[in-house]
This record gives sequence, structure tokens and C-alpha cells, in this order.
Amino acid sequence: MALQQTLVLCKPDAVSRGLVGEIVRRLEARGYLIVAMKLMQLDGERARKHYGEHAGKPFFNGLVEFITSGPLVALAVEGEDVVEGVRQMMGATNPLQAAPGTIRADFAQQIGRNLVHGSDSADSARRELDIFFEAKEFVSRKHDLNRWLVE
Ligand code: UDP
Ligand code: MG
Repeated sequence: MALQQTLVLCKPDAVSRGLVGEIVRRLEARGYLIVAMKLMQLDGERARKHYGEHAGKPFFNGLVEFITSGPLVALAVEGEDVVEGVRQMMGATNPLQAAPGTIRADFAQQIGRNLVHGSDSADSARRELDIFFEAKEFVSRKHDLNRWLVE
């Protein structure tokens, strides 16, 4: 078990469809803590940096175009093993393969409009959080509920 932070993005489809509250609600209900959060629109440079691992893939240009097309909500979320926990809550990249009960299965139809991003490892999380947030934008929060969440 490890206390981690991860980057969550409510992508432009989530913002436009009014699903930010639902996504934030799920994260909070699971007991994870939001330690930074903002509504912003990405420029192409930052989008290409964030999705750098996918540069050259057939979907890359469309992905960058979509993620920069409108406002998104970026969150830094903190908790025990939160990287894996958030990935589980999001479900598989393709909503048709995502398990029922996950955000992508419950609210999305297609891979290119799958509502949320979550870092895929602790290393990616650190790299990605750096792209979206400055150190001064993080608040430090007490994990008061941990006695009910963590053995
Ligand atoms: N994506 C896409 N088509 C693909 C693969 C990925 O449009 O064939 C998009 C999709 O929105 C996905 C993002 O690119 O969320 C990043 O892909 P990744 O494999 O990292 O999936 P994720 O980590 O978001 O589940
Ligand atoms: Mg990914």
C-alpha cells in the first residue's frame, strides 16, 4: 500500500455533457481526496506533451484536437493506491470493454469520447501532474477518514 497522487481529467466531453459533478462525486464517495482542481483549456503544445507516449499513432492528431477543443477539468487526487483505484473506476479505454459500474461503461459509448483520463502509473502521475499544476496549486489535506477506509 502506498499513499499516492494521480492526475484525473474530466475531458471536454464530460464538461460539455455536465458529468463533472458525477465524476467528482464518485471519486469523493470512494474516499479519495482532491488536492488540486481547475477548469482550463489545453493548448496543442501541452496536449502533445501530456499524450507524448501516443505521438505517431493513428489516433494521436484526433486525440490532441479533441482534448484541446473545449474546457476540461483537471484534478490531482490523493489516496492509498489511488493510481490503480482511479484506473479501476474509469474502466477500460474502450467503453464497450469497460465493466459495468465504471465511469466509461456507465456514461460513454466510444473510445474517442471516453470522458476521463487517469494516470497509468505512479511515474506517469508525477510527470502528468507537473504538466497541469504548479506546486503552489496543491493544498495539503488531512486524511481524517482513513480510519474508516484503511486497515
Ligand atoms: N484513444 C483513441 N483511440 C484509440 C486509443 C486511444 O481515441 O485507439 C484515445 C482515448 O481517448 C484514450 C486516449 O486516447 O483515453 C489515451 O489512450 P490510452 O491508451 O492511454 O488510454 P487510457 O489510458 O486513457 O485508458
Ligand atoms: Mg493512458
